[in-house]
Amino acid sequence: MWIEGNMIRIILDGHETFVPHGATLLDAAVKLGIPIPTLCHLDGCRAGTSCMVCVVRVEGLKRLVPSCAFPVREGLVVHSEDPEVREARRAAVELLLSEHVGDCEAPCQRACPANMDIPLMLRQIADGTLDEALTTVRRDIALPSILGRICPAPCERVCRRGKVDQPVSICLAKRLVGDTDLMKAPPGSPPAAPATGKTVAIIGAGPAGLSAAYYLRARGHDCVVFDEQAEAGGALRRDVPESALPRAVLEAEVAVIRRMGVVFKMGVRVGDATALMALRAQHDAVILAVGPLTGDGARALGVEAGERGIQVQSGTYLTSQAGVFAIGAAVRPIRMAVRAGADGKESAFACDLFLRSGAVAAEPRRFNSVIGKLTEGELQDFGRQADPRPRQEPRDGKGFDAGQGADEARRCLHCDCRKVETCRLRAVADALGAQARRFAEAQRISVTFNRQHPEVIYEPGKCIKCGLCVRLTGQHGEALGLGFVNRGFATRVQVPFGASLSEALTHTAAKVVAACPTGALATLTDRPHRDTDEYSSLPQKS
Ligand code: SF4
Ligand code: SF4
Ligand code: SF4
Repeated sequence: MWIEGNMIRIILDGHETFVPHGATLLDAAVKLGIPIPTLCHLDGCRAGTSCMVCVVRVEGLKRLVPSCAFPVREGLVVHSEDPEVREARRAAVELLLSEHVGDCEAPCQRACPANMDIPLMLRQIADGTLDEALTTVRRDIALPSILGRICPAPCERVCRRGKVDQPVSICLAKRLVGDTDLMKAPPGSPPAAPATGKTVAIIGAGPAGLSAAYYLRARGHDCVVFDEQAEAGGALRRDVPESALPRAVLEAEVAVIRRMGVVFKMGVRVGDATALMALRAQHDAVILAVGPLTGDGARALGVEAGERGIQVQSGTYLTSQAGVFAIGAAVRPIRMAVRAGADGKESAFACDLFLRSGAVAAEPRRFNSVIGKLTEGELQDFGRQADPRPRQEPRDGKGFDAGQGADEARRCLHCDCRKVETCRLRAVADALGAQARRFAEAQRISVTFNRQHPEVIYEPGKCIKCGLCVRLTGQHGEALGLGFVNRGFATRVQVPFGASLSEALTHTAAKVVAACPTGALATLTDRPHRDTDEYSSLPQKS
């Protein structure tokens, strides 16, 4: 507790505050509740000033200063947030990223139009926890059994396992998850948030409309789906043969949405502005998922037309009319049902925000660090815990059973970062709108893993040389600890004298992992990969 009197007075962002001698500008900001990002700072650890993300502007000084190390002086006037400060912080993060080698999300997840967390689903399938896998899938995909049959799987085209032998059979794995639920009597009902009292009319019961209804209902809104056909499914029913998508599967997934409380009004056509206005008057929002439309068709509905359908705001799907959104093939030609479903999910985010606050914004896209191509040696090290067996083919020629699905899931290399949800570097990059490649080095450092510790894994490529682990191991009396070797670009954090990581971290493992602002130091239980030495190596790339 600081007691005023004999204190130092400063002005930070227009707020007067008093802090004791020896306090830093960062301490003053913390006292005022003003957020300043930091990466190399830790309370109780001496200042590192290596990341320069915490810079602020002090009136009268020519240069920005790191707030974590700058001591307060009587009468300082400080600005923590202005364009110059923001740009300097962003440049500092981009410099760190220029030497940073890691994938936040796995390549498969980045390629999935719905951005589904595929490696997490595969871990859950491998563990036999298919209910958890279903929760993972449904966070982004409302119709897993349908898409598990008809999706062209852009994720598999970029799957890193494909660089070794064949890609992981992601699509069939997802189908197993969906089908396992549909085979229950009755299938589980996805949870819905408490009722909001708002109602949304969704026009069109194809993949985009069904998905929008699913995610809006899950957020607690009442949904009514209108369609001119007698049965739901839209293009899924019209364009996909029964041999590819059995109607029983389509109907079972529509039934899941119905059981969530979505009401279907079939045989109703909403083809002109009068009908649309009437629906808009009866509901708090409308989503147009009417399938392919000409410009004239769009204008007939009373909304502005673009070149290829209804004109919408990028990312939010808002049309020229307040509270009216348009998605799927009504907006532009769509080749993949998973893309239509992703429109439904993304529009549900924007529509939900509109229903709750009147504002409309797109779901923010998160920063992603990307490694790119791995060398053969890196691939082998990456996949040390992956099952070396070739891709499984379903025994009945159709889908996997649980055992086969688990075997196939074990082929995954787990390309995602263990700290993808908690990494402070990613969070700061997000907040500052940093670009990963702005100052990219021509040559990246190698992707390697230090697995010498029973609880901790060290990935040097993700280290930003903040020095926290070095300072902490020293401060807490590790005999060896971690240290810096080399200078400049070649600087690395290493265990000294060629000793092993388990000798370096005898009692500070949990502390350094918690302090490390990146995925460089992580515990084996962070997004656990298959931490086993059961397999020796992957097949060699042919
Ligand atoms: S350490 Fe952070 S920024 Fe780097 S790959 Fe992992 S999550 Fe992304
Ligand atoms: S190996 Fe696994 S995590 Fe990596 S791209 Fe393929 S499915 Fe995704
Ligand atoms: S490994 Fe050490 S130096 Fe590197 S980012 Fe993590 S805490 Fe900082």
